[in-house]
Amino acid sequence: MTLIRPDLDTLPAYVPGRTVPGATKLASNEVAEPPAPAVLEAIARAAANGNRYPDLGVVELTARLADVHGLAPERIAVGCGSVTLCQQLVQVSCVGPGDEVLFAWRSFEAYPIVARIGGAEIRTVPLGEGFRHDLDAMAAAITERTRLVFVCSPNNPTGPAVGRDEFVRFLDAVPADVLVALDEAYAEYVTDPDAVSGRPLLDAHPNLVVLRTFSKAYRMAGLRVGYALASAEVATALRKVAPPFGVNSVAQAGAIAALEHSAEILAGCADVVRERQRVAAALRDLGFPVPDTQANFVWLPLGERADEFARHCGERKVIVRPFQGDGVRVTVSTPQENDLLLDVASSFPAQPSS
Ligand SMILES: *Cc1c(COP(=O)(O)O)cnc(C)c1O
Repeated sequence: MTLIRPDLDTLPAYVPGRTVPGATKLASNEVAEPPAPAVLEAIARAAANGNRYPDLGVVELTARLADVHGLAPERIAVGCGSVTLCQQLVQVSCVGPGDEVLFAWRSFEAYPIVARIGGAEIRTVPLGEGFRHDLDAMAAAITERTRLVFVCSPNNPTGPAVGRDEFVRFLDAVPADVLVALDEAYAEYVTDPDAVSGRPLLDAHPNLVVLRTFSKAYRMAGLRVGYALASAEVATALRKVAPPFGVNSVAQAGAIAALEHSAEILAGCADVVRERQRVAAALRDLGFPVPDTQANFVWLPLGERADEFARHCGERKVIVRPFQGDGVRVTVSTPQENDLLLDVASSFPAQPSS
């Protein structure tokens, strides 16, 4: 007998981006600016009512999201960030040993963690050419034990978005009793007109779940709000397994204000997109083979030199996110912060010396 279930010992811990005083943090795909003034006002007002429990049903925020997306409120589940909704998706789809969660690799590092916490098995399919999802291979990897598939578009940490046509083909190939979660954490940064958008596909595909978040483009990562768009059946199940009162009142008020001011808040994404082009081009000029990115980060496929690059940056007070043996993800930020990154990268040899 053990006090704690033994499989937790083998679970990888989520690696947060490092915070170093005085350093430039380009490790967690956050936006450098604080939340919008209207959001700050709303959360201050909500904080004054902090003695009261939050709205358990997240009714007002859900109604606003229903308006924004043209969906009935029962088709929306709000969570403490979309990571928590990933965990809830495992909980609602996997019941026991042998149930499988499928995703591409490398992709979002939370997927293996939430799958294992939920007691499910993990099956991964390597990314294809250009660090893109290989959806045909993923469809072929589905077995009768597959319960849930995560598709991350744009893919964290490599950057490319999934195409609309290939995703529809994929959905058509997936059995109706397998959930497909399209994780659109970076949707607001997508500019490729052929990239998939999940919302228009929901009505035709009751097994599709679209995940969105206020953490990235809305600049509210610390407030913890994300949501799922799905069929009423799936959204109801997600709400059933939600941690009680999980989405706190400050977060709910902040998200409502953010939606009211979404046009001005999301205007900032255009600057990031412009900088993304500049940073990717400059890194390619330095010899780093940066793949296409539709998000607010770039991927440097440095392989075994990933940690070395991150150390090189850290010594120069720029914090990036290495994935050991694979590559480095760097957040695209303000022009000044991006210039720092480019300066630091220029003193690191893009190719190993032989
Ligand atoms: C940042 C991110 C999220 C959002 O997480 P939150 O819990 O909403 O902060 C979800 N999926 C991916 C792929 C991400 O990169």
